[in-house]
Amino acid sequence: MSQFEALGLSHVLLKSIKALGYETPTPIQREAIPHVLAGHDLMGLAQTGTGKTAAFGLPIVHKLLAENKRPAPKTVRALILAPTRELTNQIAANMREYVMRSPLKVTAIVGGASIHIQKRHLAQGTDILIATPGRLLDLLERKAVFLDEARLLVLDEADQMLDLGFIHALRRIAKMVASPRQTLLFSATMPKQIEELSRSFQHQPVRVETNPPGRAADKVRQSIHFVAQTEKAALLKSCLAERPGDLSLVFARTKHGAEKLMKQLVACGLPAASIHGNKSQNQRNRALAAFREGDIRVLVATDVAARGIDIPGVSHVYNYDLPEVAENYVHRIGRTARAGAAGEAVAFCSPAENHLHRNIEKLMKITIAVASGEPGEDEGKARGKGRGRGQRGQAAKQGHRGSAKRRAQRDGERGGQKPAHAGAGKSKRGRQNDDNQAAARHESAPQHAKNKRPGRRPAHAEAAQSSKPANRNRRPGRSSAAA
Ligand code: AMP
Repeated sequence: MSQFEALGLSHVLLKSIKALGYETPTPIQREAIPHVLAGHDLMGLAQTGTGKTAAFGLPIVHKLLAENKRPAPKTVRALILAPTRELTNQIAANMREYVMRSPLKVTAIVGGASIHIQKRHLAQGTDILIATPGRLLDLLERKAVFLDEARLLVLDEADQMLDLGFIHALRRIAKMVASPRQTLLFSATMPKQIEELSRSFQHQPVRVETNPPGRAADKVRQSIHFVAQTEKAALLKSCLAERPGDLSLVFARTKHGAEKLMKQLVACGLPAASIHGNKSQNQRNRALAAFREGDIRVLVATDVAARGIDIPGVSHVYNYDLPEVAENYVHRIGRTARAGAAGEAVAFCSPAENHLHRNIEKLMKITIAVASGEPGEDEGKARGKGRGRGQRGQAAKQGHRGSAKRRAQRDGERGGQKPAHAGAGKSKRGRQNDDNQAAARHESAPQHAKNKRPGRRPAHAEAAQSSKPANRNRRPGRSSAAA
C-alpha cells in the first residue's frame, strides 16, 4: 500500500498521483489530507513549493467524487480563491491533473481574460472553481454564478490576499458561500491578521504547520552581496553570465525598475523578459511560458506578479532589490528549490537597504552568508550626519508612507472604509481591473501611490449599491444541486 493510499484517497486519484510521479506525500500533504477528508476546517501554514496545492486539492477531489453528484447550472461545488492570476491558473492546471480520470469539471476565472467566455463556462455548472476575488465578484454581480452550493472553500496564500487589500472582497464572497461549509486557509506566514481572518471564517480549525513561519525551504542556499545601488546591474550581469544555462528569477521592487532592468539585460545580450502589473495578461502568460520552456533564461519580476508561480527548474533567485516586507523574502526564495530540488538565493543589498537585510535575518533567525562586500554605513545615518536631523522630519512632512507592511495594512484598512459591498457599483472596466489594481497598488513605489487609479468611478458610485443585502446573490427558491 502506497503512502497516498494509506491517507485514504480514492483509486481514481491514486492513478492521477502515480501519473504525476508523486511517490510519497510531502509533510503538508501527510498532515493536512486526513483532516480535510475528515471534514475539519484547517489552517495550513506552509511555504510555497511544499506541495500545498495537492494538500487541499487531492482531498477536495476525493470528497466531490464521493458525493457522486453533478453541479446544477451556474453553481459551484468547491471554491478556491487565490491572490494572483498566475497562481489561480497554476492551481487550476494542478486541479485538472488531479481530476483527469473523473467527470469533475474545473474552471478558472481571472481578470484580464474574456468575461463572456467565463460566463459561458460557468453557465453549465462547475465542480471546482478557482478564482481571483475581483473577477469573481464581478461575475457574482452579473449573476453568472451562485455560490450557495459551494460547501468547500479554500483561501490560498491568504496573507498575500490580505496584503493586496482583498479582505473586504473575501468577506463578501464568504457570505455567499454555503453554510455550513468546510473552510481551508493556507498561508506561508502567520501575521496577526491571518489569525483574525481564521477566527471570522473558520470553525475550530485544526492547525497544521510544516515549516515555522519565516523559515526558508531547507535546500535553498542563501548569500548576500553588499553593493552600491549603482553597481547592482553590473553585478547581476556578471552573475548571470557565469551561469548561462540556468533559469534565474530576478526580483525588483517596482514595475518601472523591473522593466528598466529587463531592457538593460536584453541590451547586453541576455535573453530576459519581465512580468509585472503593467503587463497585459497575455504578455505575462507569454513571458511565463517562455521562461518555463527555457526559451528565456532570466525573468525579471515584481512580487505581485511572481507570487505563487511554480516553475520547477528555477535554480537562482536574485533579490536585486530587497523586499520591504521581510516575509516576501521567504516567498521569493521559495520560487527555487521547489519539490525537493536544490536552489540558490542571492541578495543584493545597498546601504539604503541595510535595515531590510536586518529585518530578514531577524525574521528568519539566520545570518545570510556574505558573498562579497560589507554593509556600508546605513544610508539613513549617513544622510542624518550630512544634512542634519531635519531630513527625516521632512520626509514625514512630505507624506512618506512608512514601511511596505504598514502600507499594505493601511491599503487594506483604506479598503475597510468602503462599504462591505465596495466595488459593486464600479464601471465594468473598473471591476475587471480589480485584481490588477490591487497588484499595481502593491508594486508602485510610494511616490506613485497617490496617483489616481484608472478605471474607477467616484466613491458615490461604489457606495450606490451598498444598501443591497450581502446575500442577494442567493437564488430565490433554489433547493438542490439537481435543480
Ligand atoms: P506547490 O507547493 O503546490 O506549488 O507544489 C510545488 C511542486 O511540488 C509542484 O511542482 C508539484 O507538482 C510538486 N509536488 C507536489 N506534491 C508532490 C509530491 N508528493 N511528490 C513530488 N512532487 C510534488
